[in-house]
Amino acid sequence: MSRAHLARQLTAAITQAACKGQSRWWTECENAHAAATTPAQAQAAAAPAMALCAGCPEVTQCAARAELDSYTGLAAGTAWVNGVRRPPAAVVLKSEPSQRRAG
Ligand code: SF4
Repeated sequence: MSRAHLARQLTAAITQAACKGQSRWWTECENAHAAATTPAQAQAAAAPAMALCAGCPEVTQCAARAELDSYTGLAAGTAWVNGVRRPPAAVVLKSEPSQRRAG
């Protein structure tokens, strides 16, 4: 079974996402996080999304999906670059290619 297929299965299984219906706001958080040039800016930009994740019952499934999807952005209470977990305060290097997904 391919990683893409597993990622789709995980996505379908995530039905209780706290961020459901928040894709526009979420993208704004991710864009602010990606534009941050200091750890303090990155942490502040990620904080609202991270707070939502903190109360989400799907965080484990979400992290598995982010890894399988080679996700870049904010998910599962942390930041990701190409499916690798990063601290939310880590500044995303502009030289890192990304595979972002909307909402
Ligand atoms: S853990 Fe965060 S990004 Fe993942 S589904 Fe829940 S609220 Fe959304």
